[in-house]
Amino acid sequence: MERVQGLIKEQRDFFLSGETLTYAFRKQQLKKLKAMLKNYESQIYQALKTDLNKSKHETLTTELGFLYTEIDFALKNLKSWMEDEKVDAPLTHKGTKNYIMSEPYGVTLIISPWNYPLQLALAPAIGAIAAGNTVILKPSEFTETMSGLFTEMIIATFDHRYFAVVEGDKAISEQLVKQPVDYIFFTGSSNVGKIIMRQASEHLTPVTLELGGKSPAIINQDAEIDLAAKRIVWGKFTNAGQTCVAPDYLYVHEKAKPKLFKAMKKYIKSLYGKKPLKNEDYVHIVNENHFNRLQAFLTNGIIVHGGSVNTDKNSIEPTILDKVTWEDPIMQEEIFGPLLPVLTFSKLDDVISTLKQMDKPLALYYFGENERDQETVLQQLSFGGGCINDTLYHLANPNLPFGGVGNSGMGGYHGKYGFDTFSHKKSIMKQTTKFDIPLRYPRSKIAHSLV
Ligand code: NAD
Repeated sequence: MERVQGLIKEQRDFFLSGETLTYAFRKQQLKKLKAMLKNYESQIYQALKTDLNKSKHETLTTELGFLYTEIDFALKNLKSWMEDEKVDAPLTHKGTKNYIMSEPYGVTLIISPWNYPLQLALAPAIGAIAAGNTVILKPSEFTETMSGLFTEMIIATFDHRYFAVVEGDKAISEQLVKQPVDYIFFTGSSNVGKIIMRQASEHLTPVTLELGGKSPAIINQDAEIDLAAKRIVWGKFTNAGQTCVAPDYLYVHEKAKPKLFKAMKKYIKSLYGKKPLKNEDYVHIVNENHFNRLQAFLTNGIIVHGGSVNTDKNSIEPTILDKVTWEDPIMQEEIFGPLLPVLTFSKLDDVISTLKQMDKPLALYYFGENERDQETVLQQLSFGGGCINDTLYHLANPNLPFGGVGNSGMGGYHGKYGFDTFSHKKSIMKQTTKFDIPLRYPRSKIAHSLV
């Protein structure tokens, strides 16, 4: 831990030197980050193949490509993000100039999970860099090849006083969050999120918590069923269901179910092959513990598609489970795997009143053409973010903030929201010395006449 304390001190000294404050410095670091990813592309593909069996295509679309877009977006807009924001003032403030300065916090700690080990570590770092902070990154220990590669890439690219990696498990992470850093950005489970917040309170360190939960997809009878099936299959089985915003379960109108099942089976075959377990590009479950946890759910409800496993590879076929109830174990926790339980409804109002009783999920997806029903769902239910007639895609728009609410987290990022998350908003009022309005002072004539 002495090493970590030393690192934090070095980063704080570097931050206090003021070097990170200029536009030129931040722009240069973002460019360095992009060049680093380009230089190491083949090692990154290899690392994610080793850790999760991610294909090149999946790594490009969900990890690298996402980061390139975020970096380019930040580079394009950084100057305007950094400008002071002028605001109006009431009449009582005549003669003043009022504005908001975006000020970096200082030394930031980013703790990331294993499911998108590259993207979820570096997307917050883009916000931290753009806002002028230093970064200490603690990647997940479960994707150890990628974790090792982070150390190699970051050492080769950045001064450790500015951007450093601390590899390690839960114990190391626990030590890190006890340190007096200036901001903690955590992505992971809700349970660990609570621990992080408790620890951060010791130093009143501000936190962003990007957590998980059970994100529903509701499919009404007026949905474009074939398209809905394709988008759900893609959203659920990308990364073998190990996506924080994957549809955790389906709520399907009873009349739409037979057609939806037929279409989903068709798309599982077309996207992952007739034998997904033999598909070289199908993602594995991250480790044996998670594999065993998921395998136990296969007895819930009845299997209408899939259900096979490969214990040697920790791999589970895309699986649809019908006739599941809220009492089944699979409905008691976030699934985070390629198992899709299905609940059935006949009235949308019933779905809404049931979901209102649940923890607020990170995402919600509604499929249906009727705009009044769409509005009802959006108005009545609280969730981090989501889509009408699609899954996952909202998070790839840098103009939309990404984050949870309630049990699924607090705070957001992506695009300017990342910059804002890592900036303290400092309010400034510049007063005139040309005159002085007496209203606020005791015994002033105006103040007396008001009484
Ligand atoms: P996790 O909470 O177990 O671990 C996340 C990170 O926290 C890891 O780096 C780990 O080393 C560290 N950690 C673990 N215990 C800790 C402790 N006691 N104190 C300090 N640090 C600790 O999560 P995971 O299994 O890596 O990821 C899966 C979870 O993350 C799911 O719940 C998923 O929904 C969520 N998630 C959320 C998002 C999002 O953007 N909201 C994205 C991906 C994953």
